[in-house]
Amino acid sequence: MTTPASRTPASRHHKRPRGEGQWALGYREPLNKNEENKKNDDGLNVRQRIIDIYSKRGFDSIDPADLRGRMRWYGLYTQRRPGIDGGKTAVLEPEELDDRYFMMRVRIDGGQLDLAQLRAIADISNEYGRGTADITDRQNIQLHWVEIESVPDIWERLEAVGLSTTEACGDTPRVILGCPLAGIDVDEVLDASEQIREIQDRVIGNPAYSNLPRKFKTALSGCPAHCTVHEINDVAFVGVVNEHGEAGYDVWVGGGLSTNPMLAKRLGVFVRPEQAADVHEGVVGIFRDYGYRRLRHRARIKFLVNDWGVEKFREILETEYLKAPLPDGPAPEQPRGSRRDHVGVFPQKDGNFYVGFAPKVGRLDGDALHRIADIAERHGSGRVRTTVEQKMVILDVAPDQVDSIVAELEAHDLQVRPSTFRRQTMACTGIEYCKLAIVETKAAASQLIDEMERRLPEFAEPLTINVNGCPNSCARIQTADIGLKGQLVVDENGDQVEGYQIHLGGSLGVNAGFGRKVRGLKTTAKALPDYVERVVKNFDAQRKEGESFAD
Ligand code: SF4
Repeated sequence: MTTPASRTPASRHHKRPRGEGQWALGYREPLNKNEENKKNDDGLNVRQRIIDIYSKRGFDSIDPADLRGRMRWYGLYTQRRPGIDGGKTAVLEPEELDDRYFMMRVRIDGGQLDLAQLRAIADISNEYGRGTADITDRQNIQLHWVEIESVPDIWERLEAVGLSTTEACGDTPRVILGCPLAGIDVDEVLDASEQIREIQDRVIGNPAYSNLPRKFKTALSGCPAHCTVHEINDVAFVGVVNEHGEAGYDVWVGGGLSTNPMLAKRLGVFVRPEQAADVHEGVVGIFRDYGYRRLRHRARIKFLVNDWGVEKFREILETEYLKAPLPDGPAPEQPRGSRRDHVGVFPQKDGNFYVGFAPKVGRLDGDALHRIADIAERHGSGRVRTTVEQKMVILDVAPDQVDSIVAELEAHDLQVRPSTFRRQTMACTGIEYCKLAIVETKAAASQLIDEMERRLPEFAEPLTINVNGCPNSCARIQTADIGLKGQLVVDENGDQVEGYQIHLGGSLGVNAGFGRKVRGLKTTAKALPDYVERVVKNFDAQRKEGESFAD
């Protein structure tokens, strides 16, 4: 089921009082610079210019509209120029913040990698990315220091092993999240791998969906732990079993964080696995046609869902896009356990084991990726996975190999039994590379983990600490027990220094809700360990049996 991008349904009558740039209401003329750039030339077209022109003539030959716009359609962002402090982020012009190097995001749909793919990324990291390799909280791997001259070679090597950077960024359908244990988890509701591939084939790189109002995030999973954070995706398919014992999906729409966080809402439908790609295409189509394009900060599907309500959203999906009603369906079961990260050693359906481990704040490097591939191979595994918590999992380990693989991983500080702090602290890219950042994040979070392990070695309760370098919430501050939003603060000497606004008590799952911004509660980066120690000790002292931090 494809809905052509050229359809101009001026005849439709789903009116908002004021036009927000919805194509379906006839607003086809661009209402801002981003929309104008997208109309002038599709983001997907920049690929040929990179191959034919920019990689040959160098950085200075890149058209600014491509440099700061269309290159994102292939996962490329200019890095922040080193040495520019966070106080200048909002003041400088984009070209003053741009370095001549790129961050490159490799999309890993469903987090699924074989060893050839992992080794290809490792080689590319070492040869073209100064060894950088960060696992993101959307299962991607990001490289840094990439020069425009290298991009065609990198693509060739990625594509040779079935990977790509297409639509890893930009106003497009981004990487599709999936459970790393799809197909092997003993309790899974269903294996979503085939639907992830089908959706990928239909929409990624398809010009019908390459000009969306903004980014569009998808998750599909039958994971009993709800590891793909369906509550905060634009569309999510969550495995359920209906009253006839049939496995399928419950569909959620309109979740997202950033500056106006909203939790996704259930459409209340039951979608059979073979219908999932149609329904996904319908939801993306609604976003493309009815999504708000006037203001960038209102251009996510959550605003449309919020304004329409789920009843209207479902009706439009069924009548205009699917041309058929969907049956009602059940809500998902409550998630298994209080952690969603798949870290540790657990049995698979087939009698083998999976081994999840925790690199610190998702930071690895090319050599470490090679090591992981070698360790997996030596222990009989050919499959690794990335998770949405910046972690990794090796699948298919025979029972008699478990002790040895755990020992080898831990010998390289890839901890299978990490502390709560190592396991549940995430950090976004931050000021090291990100042009929007106000503060440093990865090193600060890493030091925080070390310090907390030293100060509170016995603490073992679930506790998430998410560190962001600016209000954009790439590391999901609002859903953490302790969410830290980077900003400049005034220290005890009256100087402006790096610090964080604190959000407390966010969570997903049974009691999903966003953390409360505690007015006036801020900490300097230097005092962060003292602050976290205080909060954790208070929580520990006051908690009742079975009470989590969010309670
Ligand atoms: Fe950059 Fe801000 Fe996102 Fe961190 S949260 S990666 S600083 S945009």
